[in-house]
Amino acid sequence: ATFGNLSARLTDTFAKLRTKGKLSAADVDGTVREIRRALLEADVALEVVKDFTGKVRERALGDEVNKALNPAQQVVQIVNDELIGILGGEQRRLEFAKTPPTVIMLAGLQGAGKTTLAGKLAKWLKDQGHTPLLVACDLQRPNAVTQLGVVAEQAGVAIYAPHPGNTGVEGDLTVGDPVRVARDGVAEARSKHHDFVIVDTAGRLGVDAELMKQAGDIRAAIDPDEVLFVIDAMIGQDAVATAQAFQEGVDFTGVVLTKLDGDARGGAALSIRGVTGKPILFASTGEGLGDFEPFHPDRMASRILDLGDVLTLIEQAQQAFDEEEARQVAEKIASDQFTLDDFLKQMQQLRGAGSIQKMMGMLPGMGKMKDQLANFDEREILHTEAIIQSMTPDERRNPKLLNGSRRLRIAKGSGQTVTDVNSLVNRFEQAAKMMKTVAKGGVPQIPGMGPV
Ligand code: GDP
Repeated sequence: ATFGNLSARLTDTFAKLRTKGKLSAADVDGTVREIRRALLEADVALEVVKDFTGKVRERALGDEVNKALNPAQQVVQIVNDELIGILGGEQRRLEFAKTPPTVIMLAGLQGAGKTTLAGKLAKWLKDQGHTPLLVACDLQRPNAVTQLGVVAEQAGVAIYAPHPGNTGVEGDLTVGDPVRVARDGVAEARSKHHDFVIVDTAGRLGVDAELMKQAGDIRAAIDPDEVLFVIDAMIGQDAVATAQAFQEGVDFTGVVLTKLDGDARGGAALSIRGVTGKPILFASTGEGLGDFEPFHPDRMASRILDLGDVLTLIEQAQQAFDEEEARQVAEKIASDQFTLDDFLKQMQQLRGAGSIQKMMGMLPGMGKMKDQLANFDEREILHTEAIIQSMTPDERRNPKLLNGSRRLRIAKGSGQTVTDVNSLVNRFEQAAKMMKTVAKGGVPQIPGMGPV
């Protein structure tokens, strides 16, 4: 998974501090050195790494460390804060135009995921009651207009595209002029009362002057409210140069990271804000139109540090369940009445949603279980079902009843090992505890690092 290595390296570094009663200057230096190495290996830009490690070092040595935390927790807290900082701090939302339509232009290299993103963004807006219009200005790639048509249909939104081979203007048979299409598209949106326009533009395999000029011309012609630079998180060290070229060429207002579901080391995500000064607005996490989410720096930092991303988890669960059910679950969690039965019910419902792996990945402490996660399949759910179904109703309501002999009975009854039973109960308890803290508005405890 993206950030997998970085996560593992950082959590290992923190684990070494667990036995320390106090942080010496040498401990801080050693830790900072390891963090530096981990970030460089993740392809984070050197200037960002320097800035980051400098701040972590200064704070870890300073007297403002939180004395209520043990040394490992102090360092995790500092690193978490600073990660949130380099990811952009506060969440940056989409700017809406004062008078609709809000015009959003997409720019980026070919293959970055612009066209897919146009569909995702359109669907996301539509789901919130907006009426986006997609405009096809990528007239370079032969298939691009057709492809945008396909995503528009999937998203159930309207599209404005030139007829193949001409600009759509009667009698004009020149190859389409993307600037004119963009301008006409925005005019079309205005006349048909679409409240959003998403303009897809051409990309190239590498940055080139013609591409930049075209993007710059489109920008000048339609004066967008947002110019989103779409970047593939997998491109690694090229990210910085590409981002800088687009910043000079089109001057984007925000960034969308794509392919975060892949095996990216994470360098692009962690460098882009520092290098361009521009915030990340959205993250794209798969090929499907639903694999898309607003970007939250704090949640991403927790994911990197394997503190879990319980908020996104809850939001996605809310999408998978109906609202009433979600409300009941939240209530149960807050009042400590979330039981293994509820847990099982959620799993069963999720089975259809096909997103179990993703959700499990957001639970705290799951980073180390990557491989198991990759093998997480139907069978695993069946095992979990079998275990929970071998419990008595009382046990499901109150897992504290589960002493050794009961666990043995359940293991036998479900055909699983006692270790499986233990692991399920632990996971459930940790999840319930985290969810409860978050539901109450608190900061979750760092798993495995609390005072024993
Ligand atoms: P464009 O050239 O910038 O318009 O890029 P496309 O939208 O055509 O995307 C290029 C390829 O990347 C397509 O095969 C997409 O399905 C795929 N793609 C786009 N976004 C994602 C993502 O977030 N995750 C994954 N795994 N694939 C993606």
